[in-house]
Amino acid sequence: MYIDTHTHYYDEAFGQEADAAIARAVEAGVGLMLQADVDSRERDAMFRIGHRHPEHLRQMLGLYPGSIDTHWQEEIDALLPWFEKEPVVAVGEIGLDYHEGKDFVKEQKEALRVQFELAAQKDLPVNIHLRDATADFIAAVKDAAHLHLRGNLHCFGLSLEAWREVSRYGDWNVGIGGVVTFKNAGLAQTVAEIPLDRILLETDCPYLAPVPHRGHLNESAYIPLIAAKIADIKGIPVETVEAVTTDNARKLFRL
Ligand SMILES: [Zn+2]
Repeated sequence: MYIDTHTHYYDEAFGQEADAAIARAVEAGVGLMLQADVDSRERDAMFRIGHRHPEHLRQMLGLYPGSIDTHWQEEIDALLPWFEKEPVVAVGEIGLDYHEGKDFVKEQKEALRVQFELAAQKDLPVNIHLRDATADFIAAVKDAAHLHLRGNLHCFGLSLEAWREVSRYGDWNVGIGGVVTFKNAGLAQTVAEIPLDRILLETDCPYLAPVPHRGHLNESAYIPLIAAKIADIKGIPVETVEAVTTDNARKLFRL
């Protein structure tokens, strides 16, 4: 059985397709799918679909960096009561994203620090979204070293050097998805060097569909394509990739 460690089945891009996509995933051998939270606007919808598929979906809670502005503290206040209402597997997706601009860098860093503390307090792993902010992220995990964080770098795109640096401050896994199947992505070379016992499979669906579905709606049923590519890169059987990555996900998220 496979586990897709990063999905958004509540995303409106799925429209009426979400339930059918979840059924196709189960059919393809993907028995568990973890949904990453973004902000208060979509949280109800996330738990609604989660409750419809209790055997196959698990949820996280967190404030996504792209949703952070000067009102971030209100978003954190809206987030906190959910931890009493719902069992969740991680604090996520949280992190730093400077791709769309650096207007709220200070707020993003502060929200990340607060959510690192929240994860430590709740004894939960973190699911990290990181884009164009490697140096600040390394500084953030260094500052949080005393929290002994464990987590996953979702949509992993760091250099090997940066990965080794991050690994000095916490217990980190990497989430590998459709990007590994893209030509010239460069990610394949990094994946070759990262031990399999640090790798988790993910789609980030409905985004980032793997080849040959690139440009279309992504879904967890494509996880075996990502596993096959990793098996190819590492020269090992796909069954090994399936077994080890599922074991990694079970340990990290206590599934
Ligand atoms: Zn995501």
